Amino acid sequence: MIRRAHSLTLASAFSFCALLANTVLLTGNPPLSAQQLPAEKETALAHVEALASEIHRMSMVLWDFSEIALLENQSADFLADLLESEGFTVERGVAGMPTAFVASFGSGRPIVGILAEYDALPSIGNAAVPRKEPREDGHPHGQGCGHNLFGAGSVGAAIALKRTIQDHNLTGTVRLYGTPAEETVVGKVYMAKAGLFDDLDASLDWHPSLETEVGNSTGLAMNNFEVEFFGQAAHSAADPWNGRSALDAVEMMNYGANMMREHVKPSARIHYVIPNAGEAPNVVPEYARVWYYVRDTARAPVGDHYARLLDIAKGAALATRTEYKVTLLTGVHEMLLNRPLQEAAQANMEYVGAPRFAEEDQAFARELQESLGIEQNGLFTEVKPLADKPEPPEGGSTDVAEVSWIAPAVSIRVATAAQGIPWHSWAAAASHGTDGSVRGADVAAQVLALTGVDLLMNPSLVEEARAFYLEKTGGKPYVSPVPEGQEPPLPGRRRD
Ligand SMILES: [Zn+2]
Repeated sequence: MIRRAHSLTLASAFSFCALLANTVLLTGNPPLSAQQLPAEKETALAHVEALASEIHRMSMVLWDFSEIALLENQSADFLADLLESEGFTVERGVAGMPTAFVASFGSGRPIVGILAEYDALPSIGNAAVPRKEPREDGHPHGQGCGHNLFGAGSVGAAIALKRTIQDHNLTGTVRLYGTPAEETVVGKVYMAKAGLFDDLDASLDWHPSLETEVGNSTGLAMNNFEVEFFGQAAHSAADPWNGRSALDAVEMMNYGANMMREHVKPSARIHYVIPNAGEAPNVVPEYARVWYYVRDTARAPVGDHYARLLDIAKGAALATRTEYKVTLLTGVHEMLLNRPLQEAAQANMEYVGAPRFAEEDQAFARELQESLGIEQNGLFTEVKPLADKPEPPEGGSTDVAEVSWIAPAVSIRVATAAQGIPWHSWAAAASHGTDGSVRGADVAAQVLALTGVDLLMNPSLVEEARAFYLEKTGGKPYVSPVPEGQEPPLPGRRRD
């Protein structure tokens, strides 16, 4: 996911007033801040507060592990064990991924899903200090997207919700999804394909961020695929006429894709790398592989661009007399926003407020900003208003989008790192190992737990969210972007 910066404008503040009016219309209740908190919500908040040291511990343990996509064995076991000891029923190794799990508690409807992530990013590990410095234990990988906090905050919310269900004898189910490999946009794609979200009434998740807000942008739909070309090796000087270069085919394909850029809408994004391109200049490369992402604002244009790129691959193979093979590794939709859930989450976020960062958190943030040579304005300390319309789609893609096309879903973001720092970087990995960042996870756990209570207590919210979802999808069933029968790309199954 890509973070973005916004300034509060008069216009957006005005829309927020309109939003509050909408909240009244939709729920029939005044805004949360203007009313006495129901006892169930007080209970949920008290449980999150009581779990604060546990959320801190989880955040730090997952930061220490910092395991990359589909290798999050210790992280997944750690969270699953914890939920099991809390009384959740845990199913491990779901959807063909050893590090995916589902933990459930309660019975009947509504079924409230909370998503947890825990994978790290390769080779950006850093000590929890405000400068570039390797970890003392030499561990190379890092939580540059803050998924250690994501996992800890979500599990904290699920436990708080479970305890609230028990305390108040509520009917309903809370289900924590351990979703691996978000960074490779794999985990939820295959969990969705396996039908694991099919019976959800609502899905809640959060993401560490530079700001605190309810997600209101759809992100980009995407296909992630590779094309392998198979030629014939020969001596590049002695008998090149016997050779058929797979690298030539890759180069022709990329040339064709680069020509294509002129003739697609500006919302398209096409990018590639060449992981295999031959070994030595004096050998005609018999094998080459190019790896592509193609993105746009919706599935349909992604499908069109993808079809054109496959024609280009075919043309490149024909022209170079090589064979080729296409593998669609994964794909996602754009996020389907759900207004009733967004408004419920916004009301709860307004009530909880932004993380209350300590002076030492701000000092760390400013030092980090200084070492990056950017403005030293510390951590973001407000809750952004929810605009009355979705924000324009931007850069990144997320596999949370798959869940949003199966069930009503809402994502929130909470500040966990200094404003303006590069995401997916050593600086973000360093930030997410600090106490200050855990204050963000605490806020997330509170907002998710309160929104979960809303769903458990208020059938009209569940119905409004479902009606909104059905209107947007037209009741069409979810179709996975990846082909029928395809298995998740587990490490060891592929050439890289
Ligand atoms: Zn992330």
